[in-house]
Amino acid sequence: MRFRPIFRVSRSNIGTELRRSFSQIHPTPQRPSFGIAFDIDGVILRGQTPIGGSPQALKRLYHDNGTLRIPFLFLTNGGGIPESKRAVELSSLLGVQILPLQVVQGASPFKGLANRFENELVIAIGKGEPAAVMSEYGFKKVLSIDEYASYFEDIDPLSQFKCWVTRQANEKNTSREAQLRYNVYSERVKGAFVVSDPIDWGRDIQVLCDVLRCEGLPGKDIGHQQPPLYFAADDLEYQAAFPSERLGMGAFRIALESIFNSIHSSPLKFTSFGKPNPSVFKNAEAILSQIFSNVYQDQETEDGVKGHQFDTIYMIGDNPAVDINGASKAGHPWFSILTRTGVFRGKDNHAKHPADLVVDTVEEAIDYILKKELSSHYSY
Ligand SMILES: [Mg+2]
Repeated sequence: MRFRPIFRVSRSNIGTELRRSFSQIHPTPQRPSFGIAFDIDGVILRGQTPIGGSPQALKRLYHDNGTLRIPFLFLTNGGGIPESKRAVELSSLLGVQILPLQVVQGASPFKGLANRFENELVIAIGKGEPAAVMSEYGFKKVLSIDEYASYFEDIDPLSQFKCWVTRQANEKNTSREAQLRYNVYSERVKGAFVVSDPIDWGRDIQVLCDVLRCEGLPGKDIGHQQPPLYFAADDLEYQAAFPSERLGMGAFRIALESIFNSIHSSPLKFTSFGKPNPSVFKNAEAILSQIFSNVYQDQETEDGVKGHQFDTIYMIGDNPAVDINGASKAGHPWFSILTRTGVFRGKDNHAKHPADLVVDTVEEAIDYILKKELSSHYSY
């Protein structure tokens, strides 16, 4: 597996938005020297339901007037909808104002590839609105795999047995304009991006094998110039609404890789992003620094321009292999806190990826952090 650290924070794009939002910040007696990164699934939410006292815990990171007091963000391997939409959704579910900048998803690093693929035909795979996510990142010629597959009759020999075959047919009928703009029968797919958890594994594995083996033209000659393939994350399992873990994007990657390598002479080449890659934590640190600078813009900060240096950044997660392992590999200033509300349910610490602290819930984690960091400056 390869990984290229390519995601950058653009100060110019986000400064205005943050200044607008944080313009009513209260004067604060002491600037915190810490930040917090929250995993979402299994820590903040299970499905669409808040868990572990998450709304109350998050509220403590804001002033009474609703403005942000403690720099924090969500660092999730999930996705499928644009960060702006996810921020609105989280704000509604959790009762606090979440900005798009505070939502870092598995696919967020794809933004850094937009220039490279700007005018190339690419396909986006996964639940939700994968093509809309890629368009928001700046990709100009992107089709969802649903739409792309619908142009190739019989590419999925099982489609007639699937209940959503009608939906695909409808998409085909309403996509004439896109079909004219992108001649998928002669224009090669130059990149495939797995944005979020795939829905129809069988169809998606089939179509991806076609695209990747036939150099971007399904049904044509098999070649060896495999188009680049990117995964937003590599989670084997994650905690959703069902009591036990569900198979994640990493499981899909294993299935695709195993099948591709069985039918093709060259092994599958791909790049995976998301936690536990240390670059994801470096990027989160840079974004937290940007949030900090905007929250405390009115105060004299000698490091404000170059980026705030945190003494501690807390990663609160439920998945030892992803959240805790990633924070450990990232090193200073990361401090890992493992909750028992998701993938991990153990009594003691995790054996292979031990956290710096194990708690029952995110509310308990916030209680620990605020008592430790702020007890000398605030009363909580
Ligand atoms: Mg999780």
